[in-house]
Amino acid sequence: MAGAKIIDGKAIAAEVRRSVAAQVEAMKRDTGVTPGLAVVLVGEDPASQVYVRNKARQTVEAGMKSFEHRLSALTSEAELLGLIDELNRSRDVHGILVQLPLPPQIDTRKVIEAIEPAKDVDGFHPINVGRLSAGEPALVPCTPAGCIVLAKSVQPELRGLEAVVIGRSNIVGKPVAQLLLAENATVTVAHSKTRDLPALCRRADILVAAIGKAEFVRGEWVKPGATVIDVGINRVAGEGGKSRIVGDVAFDEAVKVAGAITPVPGGFGPMTIACLMLNTVRAACALQRVKADI
Ligand code: NAP
Repeated sequence: MAGAKIIDGKAIAAEVRRSVAAQVEAMKRDTGVTPGLAVVLVGEDPASQVYVRNKARQTVEAGMKSFEHRLSALTSEAELLGLIDELNRSRDVHGILVQLPLPPQIDTRKVIEAIEPAKDVDGFHPINVGRLSAGEPALVPCTPAGCIVLAKSVQPELRGLEAVVIGRSNIVGKPVAQLLLAENATVTVAHSKTRDLPALCRRADILVAAIGKAEFVRGEWVKPGATVIDVGINRVAGEGGKSRIVGDVAFDEAVKVAGAITPVPGGFGPMTIACLMLNTVRAACALQRVKADI
């Protein structure tokens, strides 16, 4: 019999979106300004097209302006940098997101560094990365921010808890670790060279898996009662020749031991885009110098 509480990312993301919509309304009422998010897509990658469509739809649903820029896969780096410069200067645009990956002729690092840090709603600009690690206010990457919202939905106070983050990528593992540290958790970051990962994981009150390996974390690695946040998205062979999505944690095993767990799919759900909406309205408030109640 499964013991863990199932963390419902879909419901929590809907709550985040409702508070974003309320903040957008308040901002329009008080300043006459509508927050705007510009999303730039270079090329025709099908997965990226779906993400961009979803982002645009949710931006409009939250009452914000959505600006979509779809550029050909042959776009030069100079053209893209020119567009970013325009968006940096636009008074209607408060958030800029360039959908990754970019085609090979474009240097991703140059593009990220060209985005005005105050509008960098992906939180990848070195200024925001530095501010986050210095414990200063920053625009924080969306998936890591979502991890903290999900963890706090079951454990509102993370102070003093032992947290283990498996994965040290710049887009997930490292920022998750910084955010947990900011919550006063005691944080260990594990990676492919970590010795005796199962023993390390068994100490964790909060276990975050961001590895990219299907069902890698076993039930016996989980401390009884721990909160398990599974960021992994892995496609594996399913029944009847179809594929299915699983996380980085062996859910059927871990659910019997954990206190709370995010299922995959359905756990993380739309949290990442909800946090993007949150970043956009926060960026708009900061640019308009109004206090964000969110
Ligand atoms: P990544 O850049 O490939 O990083 C994977 C990390 O896992 C690396 O730090 C790697 O260690 C570590 N790792 C690999 N094998 C390991 C092992 N055997 N033991 C311990 N650690 C190991 O991946 P990512 O971009 O962070 O993404 C991680 C997962 O999250 C993927 O499944 C991705 O699809 C998913 N994801 C989900 C969302 C979402 O919205 N839900 C968003 C982004 C990513 P080294 O550094 O030593 O190589």
